[in-house]
Amino acid sequence: MRKKIIAGNWKMNKTVSEAQSLSAAIKRELESEAKVDVVLCPPFTAIAAVSQEVSGSQIAVGAQNMHFEPNGAYTGEISAEMLREQYCRYVIIGHSERRQYFAETDASVNKKVVAALAAGLKPIVCVGETLEEREADKIEEVITTQINGGLEGLSASELRNVVVAYEPVWAIGTGKTASPEQAQEVHALIRGLLAKLSDQTTADAVRIQYGGSMKPANAAELLSKPDIDGGLIGGAALDATSFVDIVKAAVDA
Ligand code: PEP
Repeated sequence: MRKKIIAGNWKMNKTVSEAQSLSAAIKRELESEAKVDVVLCPPFTAIAAVSQEVSGSQIAVGAQNMHFEPNGAYTGEISAEMLREQYCRYVIIGHSERRQYFAETDASVNKKVVAALAAGLKPIVCVGETLEEREADKIEEVITTQINGGLEGLSASELRNVVVAYEPVWAIGTGKTASPEQAQEVHALIRGLLAKLSDQTTADAVRIQYGGSMKPANAAELLSKPDIDGGLIGGAALDATSFVDIVKAAVDA
């Protein structure tokens, strides 16, 4: 049985004091919810404050990006070790916004995944097709390239520490959600690709989240599908009640 994982990607939202209030409210409402892994990914500036706020609870903290080098002349960047120092346990890698606006490629995703794992962080690796790619019947091609490129060279034990997030680009922040059937189809494809990269037992242990306008109203149905092991939540993660309701849907799934 894979433990479900719900992660909130706060993107470029929340000052330190706002992040403290939001994480405190989530912690209060969740109390000792241990059946599901819960991860909060605030902007870099609020990571330390959120780590402090949730310390002693079941809630983990993650970052939204990192550089693959351990240190050096990379102005504006943050290393895996710096994230570990602030008690991060997860890091989102290759989000479609990073790919679209910051020219991230499968090759840079792969370097980041390797560096994150080496530093003891669990990468949440995002993949997903655009609307044009879906309409051109290229889902399998796009997802295969992203999974094989992003996860190249990982051992089976490393792969078990990876979380994959299937995020159809057309569903992110648009209010359009993939239907549970559409999402399940791609999740099953991803699990098959993971089995080819390593073996079926390893593939069966990897958690695959769905992301793209997940909210309390559609979470239960999506999370009931056999290969949907959680959610990466954007907009709905900025409100404590919505986020907690999604976590509760995962507990009941
Ligand atoms: C995301 O950006 O990872 C995401 C899923 O956003 P939203 O939930 O707002 O679609």
